[in-house]
Order: sequence, then C-alpha cells, then structure tokens
Amino acid sequence: MSNFVKILNQIHFIMAGNRTFTMIKPHAVADNHIGGITAMIEAAGFRIVAMKKTQLSAAQAGKFYEVHKERPFYGELCEMMSSGPIVPMILEKDNAVADFRALIGATNPANAEEGTIRKKYAKSMGENAIHGSDSDENAAIEGAFFFASIEQY
Ligand code: ADP
Repeated sequence: MSNFVKILNQIHFIMAGNRTFTMIKPHAVADNHIGGITAMIEAAGFRIVAMKKTQLSAAQAGKFYEVHKERPFYGELCEMMSSGPIVPMILEKDNAVADFRALIGATNPANAEEGTIRKKYAKSMGENAIHGSDSDENAAIEGAFFFASIEQY
C-alpha cells in the first residue's frame, strides 16, 4: 500500500472517532477462542467495524511492533506473532482506547483482573491472547496497517 493511501486510511480512522484496534494473537486463534473473545468484546459494548483472519510474515510483525525493537523480547514477539493466523479488528465505542485496555487487562496475565480477556485466555507474558492500541494515534496507525477505509463499516 502506498504511503499516500496509508495516510488517507489513517485520516478516515481518526475522522470516524471513538475507535481502537485489536488483534487476537496466534495461540488464542489456534485454541479456537475467536468466538469466546469476540463475545466478550461485544458484551462489553464494542461494535466490530472491521475484522479478518490473516497471517503476518516475521518482517510484517517486525514492522508492526517496530516501537519495541530495542526491547529484549522483540525477536520472540515477532516470531510468536507470525507463528500462525491472527484476527485483527477495528472496534468502536465511546472512549474506545481506554475502555478496551481495561477490558483486555494487564500485559502479564498474573496481574490481569478477573473478568478481563487476558485473565481468561492469556497463557504467559508473550502469549497474552490479545493486543489493544495504547493511544488514539497508534489505533489509527495500527488500524490502517491492516484495513483500507472500504473495509471499515
Ligand atoms: P501491551 O500489549 O499490554 O500494550 P507492551 O506494549 O508492553 O504490552 O508489549 C507488547 C507485547 O509484547 C505484549 O502484549 C506481549 O505479547 C509482548 N511482551 C511484553 N513484555 C514481554 C516480556 N517481558 N516477555 C515476552 N513478551 C513480552
């Protein structure tokens, strides 16, 4: 996708407002938890605006997680995220980014609260079931990484 089209997609995402980006990680897809996780997301009041099943190459995972490239777990993270299919989604709700971070719970499942997606489905710090954007700006960049504006309804 050209940079121009990427920027148009980010603008579309920002204009829509109240959106966040998520993806169900490979281990949770492999363990048949797509239905369980999307049920929790919808029950918490999020509307699924875009969704697909796809698989990242190691290079694409590296690009997506580029902000973490100096962290010691970067190699492991890229390998894990490209190890099987994932389910990326764009979600809509008032206060989407913060409310979704609360719904997924802490990065380390040992610290995740009862009722959160990670408490129920995460296996470890790395295999923690689901991603959630940490800001409106990153939600726009990450949403545009996977979806064109024509795929967002
Ligand atoms: P979050 O996904 O909760 O925003 P981070 O942005 O800090 O967490 O990290 C991104 C992802 O990298 C995490 O969801 C997790 O899969 C992985 N990760 C973070 N810390 C570690 C670690 N210490 N060891 C292995 N993987 C990690």
